Amino acid sequence: MEVLAECKDRIKDADMVLIGIGKEFGVSKDDILADNLVYKELNLDESSLDDLEKQWIEHTFIYDSINDGQNKAVMEKLNLYNGLFKYLNSLGKNNYFVVTTCNDDIITLSDFDKDRIVAPLGTYGLMKCHKGCFKTVYETKEVFDNIKSIIDKYRKSADLHSDEMWNELKEAMPQCPMCKQVMSVNLYKTNNYSAEGYREQWDMYTAWLQKTLNRKIVMLELSEGFDTPTVIRWPFEKVAAVNNKAVLIRVNEKFWQIAEDIEGKAIPVKSSGIRFIEDLVK
Ligand SMILES: [Zn+2]
Repeated sequence: MEVLAECKDRIKDADMVLIGIGKEFGVSKDDILADNLVYKELNLDESSLDDLEKQWIEHTFIYDSINDGQNKAVMEKLNLYNGLFKYLNSLGKNNYFVVTTCNDDIITLSDFDKDRIVAPLGTYGLMKCHKGCFKTVYETKEVFDNIKSIIDKYRKSADLHSDEMWNELKEAMPQCPMCKQVMSVNLYKTNNYSAEGYREQWDMYTAWLQKTLNRKIVMLELSEGFDTPTVIRWPFEKVAAVNNKAVLIRVNEKFWQIAEDIEGKAIPVKSSGIRFIEDLVK
């Protein structure tokens, strides 16, 4: 495949590598929960919890599956990321940055350096006030651990659907210190999504981008559409437009087209991003 060979040459030749990971790489809630027997057995629809409380239970199972190294869909993506890391590392490409529009946190479990990753569409790791009292975000791990231990306890005593359990779970919900309402996980498109969750990483990303001027940079844009073009597509195009040593590799099954002003600085690849990475690292 000639295009693949050209992409490999460009990557080998680059001083800096910017990786944009689109939604195709994300693992959906359904993929994660599909084979979770405890979650199914719990049957939240029959519970006395309200929607936000049910969401916390659901997110507990998702968080747990992402982190426990057992979920097939999660491990497939993790292996893919690690394969890409290994490939770049073998070429000595350590000056990289990863920006992703996935918010399943899997990239942060990979071998890529956490200080070189930004996920502006959120994370299961943080929560905020659902009503928007303030923008501060808090860590969720303790809440998830607590919910999990309550469910485990009632499961062991074969009391999984008791009123006591639902009440205990209600008590375990994190409350906003101001409005006392149940908080929610800081994922994009949830109520009062807070940019504070990724501000520090975003600042590092923009500082890194500023250093790309006049450097040989390769941008690997993988399966990114137009849902949030300010995160990957537009900034990548801008770098390509202002930097004569930049190359944009746009991998996309549908939106692989390149704007006229960056023709000659961009390689369109009509392919799924996942397949492209699999071929690249072979
Ligand atoms: Zn509040």
